[in-house]
Amino acid sequence: MKIPITFLGTSQAIPTAKRNHTAILLSYKDENILVDCGEGTQRQFRKAEINPCKLTKLLITHWHGDHVLGLPGLLQTLALNGYNRKLEIYVPKGTRHFIDLMFQLFVFKGKIDYEVFEKEGKIFENKDFVIEALPMIHGTACLAYSFIEKDKIRIDKKKLEKLKINGKLVGELAKGKDVVWNNKKILAKNLTYSEKGRKISFIFDTAENKNMVEIAKDADLLISEATYTENEAELAKDYKHLTAKQAAETAKKAKVEKLILTHISQRYENREKILLNEARKIFKNTELAEDLMALEI
Ligand SMILES: [Zn+2]
Ligand SMILES: [Zn+2]
Repeated sequence: MKIPITFLGTSQAIPTAKRNHTAILLSYKDENILVDCGEGTQRQFRKAEINPCKLTKLLITHWHGDHVLGLPGLLQTLALNGYNRKLEIYVPKGTRHFIDLMFQLFVFKGKIDYEVFEKEGKIFENKDFVIEALPMIHGTACLAYSFIEKDKIRIDKKKLEKLKINGKLVGELAKGKDVVWNNKKILAKNLTYSEKGRKISFIFDTAENKNMVEIAKDADLLISEATYTENEAELAKDYKHLTAKQAAETAKKAKVEKLILTHISQRYENREKILLNEARKIFKNTELAEDLMALEI
């Protein structure tokens, strides 16, 4: 089973004709997790032909307009469309009241069932995956997130066929338990192997800091902001953003498989490749995000 990721918006603070404000959707089984919700995100859902009523979790990195101005509109549409789940909303510490204010202002209270979480570290866990959050440095409370699928025990079908084991016992083996078959003890470890879970990390808006490598460690995919090139390194420092080079260095240090640059500034419109080239010099397997780009991990 692949994990689909849809780039609903990929611009920096000011959107362009080609790029909407930041929002990325990750889908896994019946979970649809939206990371940030810039202005116009609900229309991007329409363009991507994805029903926003399927949303289960919202991960907010920080409360700058280009990451959250789409929330009131999206939530109002959910309310109008009879959204019938409990929406889990994860926000940086000390910002829970912004969500409540927004519901008071724009969405008829009681129309949507929701719960707000202000957590860091392991912020969610079920039998399939974990979500982690670590603080970034951006002049306002800001988090980076990782979606981490748990490793799975898989059965070696060839070995199983040879032994002609009863179906019930296969279930036990799949749980890692030893079984007895034809008066013989069968060790689970001899018939199973571990399949590594996938990891996808999101670093939006931050000055370079040590938590970046930690949150992205060994990820299959790192999606990182790259607001500036090295020529504007001073600006990047002043505004607490990353250069493409810094994003690539993080990818390299964290030993990720693939890097995708996003949060692209309008200053690079039609010459975005300079960001890509700068990053590829350090980390080859880099791509540049585009609106409505969809991929699977
Ligand atoms: Zn931003
Ligand atoms: Zn920001």
